[in-house]
Amino acid sequence: MYGFQGKILVIDLSRGTFEILHKDETYYRKYIGGGLLCAGLYEELTADLEGFSAFSPENPIIFATGPLAGNRVCGATRVNVLSLAPESSGIYLSQAGGEFGPNLKRAGFDALAVTGKSPKPVILAIDGNSVQFLDAEYLWGMDRVLSHERLMSDLGEDCCIASIGPAGENLVRHANIMFEPDHYAGRGGLGAVLGSKQVKAVAVKGDQNIFFKNPETVRALNRKGGLKLSKAIKKSPDSFMGILGKLGTFGLLEINQKAGNLPTRNFNSGSPGDEKALSRLTRKAAETDFVGNKNPCRNCFVACKKQSRANPEYTSLAEYESVALLGPNIGLEQDLETSLAACELCNRLGLDTISTGNLIAWLMECFAKGVITEEVLGFSIHFGEGPKTMQLIQDMTLRKSEMGNLLADGIDKAAAKLGPDTKPYHRFVKGIGMPAHLPRKKPGVGFGYLHGPNPNDHMKLEHDWIGSDPSSLKAFGLEIRSAPDALDKNKIKIARATQIYYAAMDALSLCLFVFAPGNVYTLEEIIEMLNAATGFDFRFDDLMEIGERAIQLQRKLYLHLGGTDEEFLSFLGNEIPEGPSKGARIDRNDFYQARKHYYTIMGWDEDGRVLEETLKKFEI
Ligand code: SF4
Repeated sequence: MYGFQGKILVIDLSRGTFEILHKDETYYRKYIGGGLLCAGLYEELTADLEGFSAFSPENPIIFATGPLAGNRVCGATRVNVLSLAPESSGIYLSQAGGEFGPNLKRAGFDALAVTGKSPKPVILAIDGNSVQFLDAEYLWGMDRVLSHERLMSDLGEDCCIASIGPAGENLVRHANIMFEPDHYAGRGGLGAVLGSKQVKAVAVKGDQNIFFKNPETVRALNRKGGLKLSKAIKKSPDSFMGILGKLGTFGLLEINQKAGNLPTRNFNSGSPGDEKALSRLTRKAAETDFVGNKNPCRNCFVACKKQSRANPEYTSLAEYESVALLGPNIGLEQDLETSLAACELCNRLGLDTISTGNLIAWLMECFAKGVITEEVLGFSIHFGEGPKTMQLIQDMTLRKSEMGNLLADGIDKAAAKLGPDTKPYHRFVKGIGMPAHLPRKKPGVGFGYLHGPNPNDHMKLEHDWIGSDPSSLKAFGLEIRSAPDALDKNKIKIARATQIYYAAMDALSLCLFVFAPGNVYTLEEIIEMLNAATGFDFRFDDLMEIGERAIQLQRKLYLHLGGTDEEFLSFLGNEIPEGPSKGARIDRNDFYQARKHYYTIMGWDEDGRVLEETLKKFEI
């Protein structure tokens, strides 16, 4: 087989054993890799199980890579992680960059499944065909960056490490998984799944070859993509890709603020109004004050990852999503230094920055509206309070105070405890905090937020701008248009097409910034590269079938394990009161019409369940 190792490693922590599943080409043609492979494997391993929860030992957690990984293809570095999610209902799929995915493949495996529960804290050290269960007692409770350093010195610099922090150990519902010291599978609370299994870290290393059918073709396409990108950036340094290369996603603060898409004070506005704050959010400020050296995933031409200029001790410069949610969204728009310190603290302790920012913003707004009082909270909390933010991050990680402990168990429990009046002020969907794109400004993205699998995920479909871009739509064979602020049938058709495309790229484990139409490769080039790597004969339709199979299978699992779609959130119907997106809202009727249309074109029944004929069509 080309492009695949043909082996999947399954580790049973309860027994302290491992098994290698051998898979053939038919299997890989169906499940390819990434999120689809995760879902296929998850279904296989849970087929005989019933009534388990995210923290049950039998709940597997799956890591998967893709066919292009491991051979220096730009962007083919993503590792996908899937499990029943502690933070939400149903399964959740999260991704990270870095070298863990390629290293897993070099160790000889296309995917890794971890199931059971270790009797004591453990490090899983995977090297070729050997798995060691090493004592992790000495790392338990340790800041994740320190524990990473210890592991590198104990196991060797050629290891690549996934790990959890104290948040995962303490089963905080929005704990994440860190890969190396600066990449995160942030969403869904999957770090707490590893914590429940007492897995502090997974270390992989290996030097096995990965064979491509036509490596020269892959190399040539890769080179061509790199040249095209550098020419495009030279020609338009202020284009999206130019900004990404120069300033990383930190440079998107200005773009999103100007568009009125920057979550500000609990998503109540798309831009902080005052001059001082605006001066901190510019690209110039990013360049002079915040963005340090490049720190890209290996072999990436885009190089969106950066180091922190202000504090080179930080693991990396926080990304747009993190700094937006723990910055303007909690009133720290004038004090991005504190915002970055809060992001770094989350990284070290192992918390998802997006849900953390949402929880704190929710408390701040409830307090400002008088819905919760100092008497109830035990303290006051106002937008813009940096020290309180840092304290809350510590408290929820360590479950230290009554409020910290409550927030660690997620929004639903916290809102139930603090009263029904607090509910309209939270921006969570099925327990997951809202990412840094305003649903009222981008109703197509917002529509995606409220639907599983993967509620409140901004990386599962193309954003609303594409509805008025004929050349990008043409790549998907679409001749229709939809205005950026519309939530009409065309927007839903476009959302479906791009959702399928994104899921297909995810199955190849390609990074979004690389695969987005025309950024580095064209769609045709990606298909040619896949065929050159694997020896397959895929065409556009085959790739779309892969993408749709991924969505349908994840949807099936999501519903089967308790996931449901969110009902319309009342705040979406209120106009944004000020700023560049003033007046933006989603009409409740439009939303439910769109849902009806979406269920129909996805091949689901009126309650959103995948129809038997759809399951049959995708052989799932
Ligand atoms: S674009 Fe950024 S996240 Fe994607 S592969 Fe390159 S450096 Fe990594």
